[in-house]
Amino acid sequence: MNGTALVTGAARGIGKAIALTLAQDGFEVAVNDLAASSEIDAVVAEIKSLGRKSIAVIGDISNLECHAAMLDRAETIGPLSTLVNNAGVSVLNRGDLLEVSQTSYNRCMDINVRGTFFLSQVFAKRLLAQTQKAKHRSIINISSCNATAVSIARGEYCVSKAAVSMTSKLFAARLSNEGIGVYEIQPGFIETDMTAPAKAKYDKMIDEGLTVIKRFGQPADVARVASTMALGLLPYTVGQAIQVDGGLLTVRY
Ligand code: NAP
Repeated sequence: MNGTALVTGAARGIGKAIALTLAQDGFEVAVNDLAASSEIDAVVAEIKSLGRKSIAVIGDISNLECHAAMLDRAETIGPLSTLVNNAGVSVLNRGDLLEVSQTSYNRCMDINVRGTFFLSQVFAKRLLAQTQKAKHRSIINISSCNATAVSIARGEYCVSKAAVSMTSKLFAARLSNEGIGVYEIQPGFIETDMTAPAKAKYDKMIDEGLTVIKRFGQPADVARVASTMALGLLPYTVGQAIQVDGGLLTVRY
């Protein structure tokens, strides 16, 4: 057993793939999502079928009041070692930067940034109080290529993911000498419900050479990198951002 992980937003998409890969790699896995559903129950069942413990932890990560209870419930399957801050939302409407609504801006910031920052804070405090420590303890933040790349029709999302990136560096600088690795993954185009509305447009751009590797990324691509981080296989790195983007951000000329 490599530890006990809590993965947020794990009912589907990238979070689900990360939860299943961590289970395959020897972690007990608590899976969080906004609401109880047959999807999250199926993820729990699939993890258990791999011989690992699992539990659904329902809660809105932007509701800071529920963080302690979420961690309490996750801890019922084992002492926590790993937090994957995956839950996130895109914009309410793509469009002109000059028309971004406060509602969409605040939603991106509340979930993507405040949720990630304060869940990491309460998680880190618990880890610092542990007497028995897992082989490797970590916080893994799923930001986006939009932490650096400008998508002008999704400005508030870009701002929030840039903040997640800084959050990773800050927590890495605070926690690395406490034996807690903090990492960031910047996915590019990954085939999930989030990218479904723009898939046809992106397919065409990928075909025309927007990415070095000419295919959409899969949740499993991100999950493999996340598990590598959780297993402690990136030694002597601090707040490292890994782009799982098929070369979207690779500068070419
Ligand atoms: P997704 O398919 O939309 O899944 C996101 C999951 O997070 C859903 O299960 C959703 O629950 C849950 N969630 C949303 N808000 C939550 C909250 N406040 N508390 C708890 N759970 C919440 O998204 P995805 O594509 O897998 O993306 C996962 C992460 O990767 C996000 O942070 C996203 O920004 C990032 N990312 C994705 C891509 C991509 O190409 N897909 C690229 C770059 C970065 P509901 O089903 O109830 O809404």
